[in-house]
Formats: sequence, structure tokens, C-alpha cells
Amino acid sequence: MQSRTVYTVFPEGKVKALTLSYDDGRDEDRRLVSIFREHGLRATFNLNSGQSETDPRRIPQSEWNEVYSGFEIASHTVTHPSIDRCPLPYVAEEIIEDRKALEAITGYPVRGFAYPNGCFSQEIISLLPALGIRYGRIVGNSDSFAIPDDFYRWKATCHHNHRLIENAEAFLSIDNTRHLFLMYVWGHSFEFSRDGNWELMERFADMAGGRDDIWYATNIEIADYLDASRRLIFAADCSFVYNPSAISVWISSGGEPVMIPGGETAKL
Ligand SMILES: [Zn+2]
Repeated sequence: MQSRTVYTVFPEGKVKALTLSYDDGRDEDRRLVSIFREHGLRATFNLNSGQSETDPRRIPQSEWNEVYSGFEIASHTVTHPSIDRCPLPYVAEEIIEDRKALEAITGYPVRGFAYPNGCFSQEIISLLPALGIRYGRIVGNSDSFAIPDDFYRWKATCHHNHRLIENAEAFLSIDNTRHLFLMYVWGHSFEFSRDGNWELMERFADMAGGRDDIWYATNIEIADYLDASRRLIFAADCSFVYNPSAISVWISSGGEPVMIPGGETAKL
């Protein structure tokens, strides 16, 4: 009997991860991105390929690669309809056509999704894997740091206007390794200009950025990492483990972090 307990951990043995998600690709994303970059935060930006060229408040597609470099670009449908009221073939087209347009710009498979206006249904969720979508972010506040049970109903810890600093203080003060902890913040960058509270995000980034015990990741990096963790193949006695994925995965074995490089077998 293997006596050492084996746990899933984030890269470098961390148990905390932080991610953010901002919608609609408005001009204010430029300022938000510069705050994130300055503090080492990572985020996902959910963009509508059909509205960027007609709405002057949005960043034009020709600038997306530069503005969002180092961040995840994810789908938010072509035209931002409330898709729970739309026929399913139309929903499929809104997502597939958005993926095609975003991928023509990014050059990588776009597998993240945020439901426009937060609207979804079980039928739409059932459709998403076939459309190549790995997760769907809903709206609302969980006030929780738990890993989501269902990545197609991924609810953030909080909108930035809902207990952001309180949630950050609680997250930063966690000092146990009994669970994995994920803090997830969402919103729209134009809200900071509308509400006159850019200093809220500055303060949060000051508090939560640049810390050694937090893994800063985009939404898809977290989903992909946890998927790769679940694909690890352990020896019956847990004395070694094979990682069939391309990305490296970390586990904790008897309290010690162990990296299992992609495609390799590691002794525990
Ligand atoms: Zn939106």
C-alpha cells in the first residue's frame, strides 16, 4: 500500500489560481490590459467578431493580436444575441462563425466561451462540445473559490463590483493546502469608466498580483490544466505516473511537488 497521499496541484505545486474574464472588447480593454500586464495578472477576453467593426466603442480586429497579446481571446458569439431564445441551428452558427473569425486572427483554436447576457439553456450546453467549446462562463457571483463542477456553467467568484476586495482578502489569507482554490473575477472594462472606479481594479491588482503562491492563468489554461491532470495514468501502487498530455502537470506526493513533463513517466 502506497502510504504517501497524492493530490492534484497547480503548476509548481501551488494550490491557488487566479483568473479574470472581461467581455465585449470595448476600448477600455486597453487600459485594463495594461493594469493586468503591470501586475502579472492573466485574463480571458470574450469578443464578438460581428460587432467590432461596426461599433466605434470597440477595439477593431486589426488591433486584437497586439492588444490581447499574452491573454486568451474567447468567443462571445458573432452578434451578442440572448441565445436562450434563439433556434439551436442559429446558436450553432453564431458560435461556429465567431470561432472561425477569431481563429483567423489569433491562429490558435478558440475554445473558450462566455454566454452573451449570461443566457444559456441545457440544450445550448449540450451543443457546446460539438462546437469545439470547452467551457462556458455564466454571470453572477459564487463568492466561492471552488473548482467548478461543470465548466459549461462556470460562475465567477465575483463581478468586480461585488465584494471584490473582501473576496481578495479572503483568498489571499488562505494558508492551507487541503483544497485547490480558484479566484475568478469577471466584468466589462467600460464599467470602470462608467462607474468611475478604475482605482478598484488598480487596488485589486496591487493586492493580488505578483505573488509566488498564486498561479496566474487564463480561463482555458485552467480548464486544460485540470483536464490534463485528470488524464494522468497512475501505477496501481502510485509509485509512478504517466502523463499522456503535451503539457506538464504537477502533483503533490507526500507533500512534495512533482512535475510530470508532457509525454513522460515520473517516479513518485
Ligand atoms: Zn457581452
